Amino acid sequence: MATIDRQTATLALAHALAAAGRGLPVFPLSATKLPALRSPHHGEQPPVHCRGECGLPGHGVHDATTDPAAVRALFAAAPRATGYGIACGRAPHRLVGIDLDIDTAHGNDSVGALQQLALQHLFTIPPTITVLTPSGGRHLWLTGPADTTVPNSAGRLAPGIDVRGSGGYLVGPGSVTAHGRYRLAPGTAHLPPAPCPRALLRLLTPPRRESTPSGHPGKETPPGRRGEGLIQFVLAAHEGQRNTRLFWAACRAYEHGFGDALADALTAAAVRTGLTEQEARAAIASAERLTRGRG
Ligand SMILES: [Zn+2]
Repeated sequence: MATIDRQTATLALAHALAAAGRGLPVFPLSATKLPALRSPHHGEQPPVHCRGECGLPGHGVHDATTDPAAVRALFAAAPRATGYGIACGRAPHRLVGIDLDIDTAHGNDSVGALQQLALQHLFTIPPTITVLTPSGGRHLWLTGPADTTVPNSAGRLAPGIDVRGSGGYLVGPGSVTAHGRYRLAPGTAHLPPAPCPRALLRLLTPPRRESTPSGHPGKETPPGRRGEGLIQFVLAAHEGQRNTRLFWAACRAYEHGFGDALADALTAAAVRTGLTEQEARAAIASAERLTRGRG
């Protein structure tokens, strides 16, 4: 990893202050996109479930603030910060981030998938502030209504589309990570985050709908057979979809509490589609990490 020069840290703070000035709660991130401040409860036994009630910094997204003095204090405590996170779901904007993963190497077209959803459910994606990620993906920033909590999800709308809602965060534009810089999409910097279309909001919020876009296994299937549906979903992957489908299936399994029980069967299915066992285990492990952070 590149050494963190002083200028990168200073720029991260400047960008974070600018975002805070727009009413977006921010906190410092390291080059790995994880919170830059270590938890004050690290190593405590038994584990402490504190969301900042102790008054100390180091609670990740719960540190996020729009107060400039508090932002400066957080960054002063995190000299290795190279970027900043923006807390979603918080007033006044109640940001909802639509994270479109662009993976052309694996034939994963999340932009196309979102367009297809829009056609199916009769909404349009409004012009809105958009951030380009170093890996070629994009984050659409939308706003949610005050009476609705949008949960985080990975691949629930479609493979390759993650949603950052309440309790989640987006990497802010101007942040530098090990893979490069996040930047505003040309022509969108002046746009305010647009309200999330109602029809899209319904897809993003519980109660969960029995929607099965492009043949994904439904959520109402009995538990025993639900795992079987996920296995079949992995087995049916074309070459370009193997990783995405496996990750999607593993996320669903962990969300429903049987991820560990299904891990071996998912691995075996993925190996049959041509992934190595190591690749399969890695995808399942990242699904586990991602879903564990929720709820
Ligand atoms: Zn605490």
